[in-house]
Amino acid sequence: MFDDAFASVASLSRKLQAREVSAEELARFYLQRIDEHKNVNAFLDVRPEETLAQARAADAKIAAGEATPLTGIPIAHKDIFVTRKWASTAASRMLKGYMSPFDATVVRKLEAAGMVCLGKLNCDEFAMGSGNENSAYGRVLNPWDHSAVPGGSSGGSSAAVAAGLAPIATGTDTGGSIREPAAFTGVTGIKPTYGRPSRLGMIAFASSLDTAGLLAHSAEDCAMTLGAMVGFDPMDSTSVNRETEDFTRLLDDGVKGLRIGVPRLWMKEGLDAEVAEAIESVVEFYAHHGAQIVDIDLPMAKLGVPVYYVVACAEASSNLSRFDGVRYGYRASEYQDIEDMMRRSRDEGFGAEPKRRIMIGTYVLSHGYYDAYYLKAQKVRRLIADEFHRTFKSVDLIACPVTASTAFQFGEKADPVSAYLSDLYTIPASLAGLPGLSMPCGIHSNGRPMGIQLIGEHFTEARLLGAAATWQRETDWHCKQPNGY
Ligand code: GLN
Repeated sequence: MFDDAFASVASLSRKLQAREVSAEELARFYLQRIDEHKNVNAFLDVRPEETLAQARAADAKIAAGEATPLTGIPIAHKDIFVTRKWASTAASRMLKGYMSPFDATVVRKLEAAGMVCLGKLNCDEFAMGSGNENSAYGRVLNPWDHSAVPGGSSGGSSAAVAAGLAPIATGTDTGGSIREPAAFTGVTGIKPTYGRPSRLGMIAFASSLDTAGLLAHSAEDCAMTLGAMVGFDPMDSTSVNRETEDFTRLLDDGVKGLRIGVPRLWMKEGLDAEVAEAIESVVEFYAHHGAQIVDIDLPMAKLGVPVYYVVACAEASSNLSRFDGVRYGYRASEYQDIEDMMRRSRDEGFGAEPKRRIMIGTYVLSHGYYDAYYLKAQKVRRLIADEFHRTFKSVDLIACPVTASTAFQFGEKADPVSAYLSDLYTIPASLAGLPGLSMPCGIHSNGRPMGIQLIGEHFTEARLLGAAATWQRETDWHCKQPNGY
């Protein structure tokens, strides 16, 4: 009987190939756990018959000798990816029960590799938030502490992996939504280079930033899966024309000779003392293993938050205009004329956060304010990207915090500005389109996990994963499990 809820993708793959477990058995096991831990509220749509059909198809492939290393491995998808067989809601009332006529490219590719979908994961509405408190379908619990947020916007993804309800999950990261929830729940998360994974079928929030990625128990698990997920998509005009690669190839290479930049000045900004200490312990570990630690300064990075909330809201206001009660989803039941129908549908369908962002975005794009806000933000965005590219001439990767503190309490950041400010360490890499990784590096005295972020130049995912694997080979923070699961 299979009973290892926290098994790695790598070990599941070995067991499946050796026929020690079947894909169907794994699917049934995780479906049962999802049912047992419904109170976490990580899943928005579970359809066992669809999952089992995929599992049986995977078993047939394994039997026929046509399996990939991912065939039969269960995965759950953030409800930002559209799926034909599960409802796609973006955690919004606007899209309640919406069935997409096609699968997102990321979903399709992972299914083609043989992965078995367990269902759709809760998140912040339209991926707007840092604590998963903005879902129209209720908050998600942090398995480590039920009074704390699981992070956002991919809070269902982080909670599902941390609670052993899925060995791996997709997420999306626009300004930190994979890295921050990974840090808050003690899992490993990677946001690849912007444009590497297709955006086709990812419900759009801020198109110049939205990036699909993964959350799992280890860098190795992310590396094994990422290769099947990315690659050029002619159906996405922002897709990078670059083929996928073997992201596992540097996992055993160590960090000898790697130049790791540490922006200590930036790290002074409100950083919790224990988190700072945990980060320094990783830096010391890398130095001890032959990396060269370089002091760097990123003075532009502190401008990330204001720039992001201008650019992201501007793009959101444009993207969300497609929800008008005519083409998709929710339509108000009572109205006088077409304008009234649209107004009421949007008023009743959107939650407070999307409305707030639509208003900010419309304002910064409006005549008279466009130059002062939107154009200025775009210019500063370029300066932030340039600063990173200059820095990457003298370092191979940057090590810095993911968040200034551990997971916050529900309701603690009810004021939107305080929530926005919590993204200070994740946003700069997003604005520059850089790959970023978050991995566990300790448990705080408050009992909640702590994480560290690694950022690399464009297309250096394999190196980030390799550096993370070096740490994870000799430490066990990524193996810690919350009590009660
Ligand atoms: N917390 C950020 C926001 O609210 C990032 C969200 C994201 O990356 N999707 O916009």
